[in-house]
Amino acid sequence: MSETFLPYCRPDLGPEEIDEVVETLRSGWLATGPRCKQFEERFRGYVGVSHAVAVSSCTAGMHLALAAAGIGPGDEVITTPLTFCATVNVIIHRGATPVLADICLDDFNVDPEEVERRITPKTRALMPVHYAGQPCRMDELLDIARRHKLLVIEDAAHAVGARYRERPVGSLGDATVFSFYVTKNMTTGQGGMVTTEDGDLAAQVRQLSLHGMSHDAWRRYEARGSWYYEVTAPGFNYAMTDVQAALGLGQLSRLEGFQELRACYAAEYQRLLGDLEEVMLPSARPEVRHVWHLYPVRLRSERLTVGRDEFIEALRERGIGTSVHFIPIHYHPYYREGFGFRKGDYPRCEQVFEGLLSLPLYPLMSLNDVARVAEAVREIVGAHRR
Ligand SMILES: *Cc1c(COP(=O)(O)O)cnc(C)c1O
Repeated sequence: MSETFLPYCRPDLGPEEIDEVVETLRSGWLATGPRCKQFEERFRGYVGVSHAVAVSSCTAGMHLALAAAGIGPGDEVITTPLTFCATVNVIIHRGATPVLADICLDDFNVDPEEVERRITPKTRALMPVHYAGQPCRMDELLDIARRHKLLVIEDAAHAVGARYRERPVGSLGDATVFSFYVTKNMTTGQGGMVTTEDGDLAAQVRQLSLHGMSHDAWRRYEARGSWYYEVTAPGFNYAMTDVQAALGLGQLSRLEGFQELRACYAAEYQRLLGDLEEVMLPSARPEVRHVWHLYPVRLRSERLTVGRDEFIEALRERGIGTSVHFIPIHYHPYYREGFGFRKGDYPRCEQVFEGLLSLPLYPLMSLNDVARVAEAVREIVGAHRR
């Protein structure tokens, strides 16, 4: 290995964030408090939505949104098989049943026609995932939801800053949940945000995130706060902390700069690899702003003598980290055994997964790093053409 290892991903933390965190530590207010309020306000403004509630993770936020929406036992929720397990786990945590609908081959997002086919009298909600940072076909999904009286709760873990027909993700469905996990487009270490136009839903999400205690319970430790609160539902301990929010404030102010670099590197991969017949590159549909959380490529196995797993190994030998997003939900034993999913049920997802890998794409990379990855891909393809 001649060059240093290029990791699959690394967070970009600058002096802005570090100063904000230090200041918060010095303030002595470490748990949910004024920094969270400030972060929520700024995020709300960024998305252009009425309500934003900061939470401890996207997973927690999705769990809360489903709980606040009253989704529970006997209900079915439709999502995609090509997602992180958390999307499905939160449905199960509510005692509801996850239903999977196959993906589109152009963007790997859930296919609205497949969604409609899976609707039953028990269906209560849709949970589309904006895969890799490209918004789903929301007009179609929102139309299906309206006709069948379903809620739309979006997993926007990849999609902070994305837009669909000029409308920001976070202002489209009944509730949208973002992730600030360390690998995502902006990070608070771990963290998440729920956005919605529905004031009642926002209030419920907030209350459930603070043990079910009555409104603004965190203020009880302020000078003018009251020690008194009431618990009106068995809630969770899912609120964000002020230390996380301090990180988030700094990251949010740098987010547009991050996005420009992501878009630039995606274009550079396209320029450097676009002529390779053996590798299919991701592309953005014309009506969206794709935020390139991932750069997932598909190997065409019929043109190569190596499979995806060997390809990943060959990249690693050249000092390049990659990842796979995602192992389809119905391949995991728990969901197969619990919900009767079978291989063969989602042929497009399976076909995509077979050759799927994500190349490194993040703001701390340089154009040289992108060129190095592209060169390595070309070399491996060149050595293994069928
Ligand atoms: C990362 C991720 C999540 C989970 O986000 P956390 O903030 O870590 O809970 C959920 N869904 C998808 C699609 C993800 O990639």
